[in-house]
Amino acid sequence: MKKIRTRFAPSPTGPLHIGGVRTALYCYLFAKKNNGDFILRIEDTDQGRYVKGAEDYILKALAWSGISPNEGQGVGGDFGPYRQSERKHLYKKYADELITKGDAYYAFDTAEELTNWREENANVKYDSTTRETLNNSLTLSKEAVQAKIDSGADYVIRYKMPKDETVSFSDEIRGNVSFQTNELDDKVLFKSDGMPTYHLANIVDDHLMEITHVIRGEEWLPSTPLHVKLYESFAWEMPIFAHLPLILNPNGKGKLSKRNGDKFGFPVFPIDWANEDKGEEFMGFREQGFLADGFINMLAFLGWNPGTEQEIFSLEELAEAFSLEKVNKSGASFNFDRAKWFNQQYIKTKTGEELVVLTKDLFTEAGYKAEDTYLSVVCDLIKERVTFLKEFPERGYYFFEDIKEYDEKMLKKKWKPAHKEKIDVLVEKLAELADFSGENIENLVKAFMEEFDLGFGQVLPVLRISVTGSMQGPAIFDVMALIGNEKSVERLKKGIVLAVELKG
Ligand code: GLU
Repeated sequence: MKKIRTRFAPSPTGPLHIGGVRTALYCYLFAKKNNGDFILRIEDTDQGRYVKGAEDYILKALAWSGISPNEGQGVGGDFGPYRQSERKHLYKKYADELITKGDAYYAFDTAEELTNWREENANVKYDSTTRETLNNSLTLSKEAVQAKIDSGADYVIRYKMPKDETVSFSDEIRGNVSFQTNELDDKVLFKSDGMPTYHLANIVDDHLMEITHVIRGEEWLPSTPLHVKLYESFAWEMPIFAHLPLILNPNGKGKLSKRNGDKFGFPVFPIDWANEDKGEEFMGFREQGFLADGFINMLAFLGWNPGTEQEIFSLEELAEAFSLEKVNKSGASFNFDRAKWFNQQYIKTKTGEELVVLTKDLFTEAGYKAEDTYLSVVCDLIKERVTFLKEFPERGYYFFEDIKEYDEKMLKKKWKPAHKEKIDVLVEKLAELADFSGENIENLVKAFMEEFDLGFGQVLPVLRISVTGSMQGPAIFDVMALIGNEKSVERLKKGIVLAVELKG
C-alpha cells in the first residue's frame, strides 16, 4: 500500500489563524493515525501578498502547538525545497505542457484592457463564453502569438476550462461533489512575473511530493474542480480530497474573525503576532495563558468528535482516535468558555514541577522570586482555581507578599469577639509548633478546637482570611506550612487586630 502523505500548505500572508492550525492538526493526526508523513509546504508564489515574519510565525506556532512535520520547511526531506519560491524553475514546463496539450493558452490582455472590459461589461468573466473575444492565443494567429512572445510582451497562461462538462469528485467529508464547468472561469496558472499561481504550483507540488490526501479548509472547495481538471490534463493520479468545515464566530454566524476576537476579548491566533509595518498586534492563545495541549484538545473538537463521551485527549490519543469520517460537514462555532474549560482541565492535571516550568517567567515578571521547590508547591496549591497560566502570580500573590486586601465583610461576619481569648491561645500554640507541616498544624488546630469547644466554622474563617485575605483558596494548613511559622503567626495577629477593629 502507498504510504499516506498529507501536507499543510499555508501562504505566508499574515499570522496563522486558529482555523489554519486546525487544518494542520487534522493533516497531522490523519498522517499519524495511518503511519504516514505530514509535510509542511510554504506556498509563497504570490509575492504581492507576502508578509514579512509570517513564515517564521507559522513555524513557531506549529512548534508551540506540538504539530511537528516529518518533512518540509524547517525540517528538510527528500522532496524539497519546500518553499515554492525556491521551486520557481520547476513550474514553467508544466504550464507549457498544458499549452501543448491544448488545455491552456497564452493571454496577452493588459491589466488596463481587462479593467476597461470589466467596467464596460458588468459581472463579466474570463471564461468559455468570452475568451474567444479577447487578446489571447485562441484568437490570434500562431505567428502573431509567436511574434508577441519573441518581442517580450507580457503574458499569462490560462487554463482552458471546457464547456458543458460536469466535474465530479468524491470528498471524504462531503461525499460526492459536482460543479458545472460553465460556471468556472479560465484561471491564470502562470503569471507574467514568471511565477506560477497557487493553482498550478499546488497541483504540481502535491503531485511531485506524492501527497495522497489533500485536507484543507472549505474555502478551497470552489477551486477543487479546476484542480481535478488539472489532474486530468496531466493524466496524474488524483489525491483524495477532504474539505474541512469552517470555524464560525461564537454566535454561529460567519467565519471566526479577528475583529470578533477583539470585540469579545478572546484570541484567534495561536501565539502573539506583531507587525510593525501594518501596526498590527494580536494576542495569542499562548499569551492568554493557554497550555499547548489544552489548546490542541479544544481545537480538535472544533469540527470533530470521537463519538464517545471522552473529552480529554493527548495529542497521541487524538491521533489514535482521529478519523475523517467523524469530521462534521457543518461549521463549528468557537466557544471561548469551552476553550477555557479545556485549559482548566489541563492545568489541573499538571504536577507542580511541570507548572513551574510553564510559569516561572510569569512569577519573575511579577517580581516574585523563589526556589523552584517553593514555586512548585504554590502552583500545586492554586492550580484548581486557575484558568490561565498568567493568573498564577496574581492568584498566589499571598505566598510572596503581605495581604493586599482582606474580605472585611466576611471577617466581620465570622468574628466572635467572645472567642478572642481562645483564638489568641491558638496563635500562641501555633507560634510554638516546631515542625510546622500541614499535618501538624491540622492536628494542633483540631486538638485546640476540641479543648476549647469550638467548631470549624468558628476557627477556620479567621485563619483563612488572616492568612490569605479571603475565604476562597487552597487548603489553609498547607498554605500556612508553606509560608512558614513566623509569617503565619504574624498574619494571624494582624488579622485578629483587624477583626477587633471591625467588630470589637
Ligand atoms: N496556500 C493555500 C492556503 O493558504 C493552501 C490551500 C490548500 O491546502 O490547497 O491555504
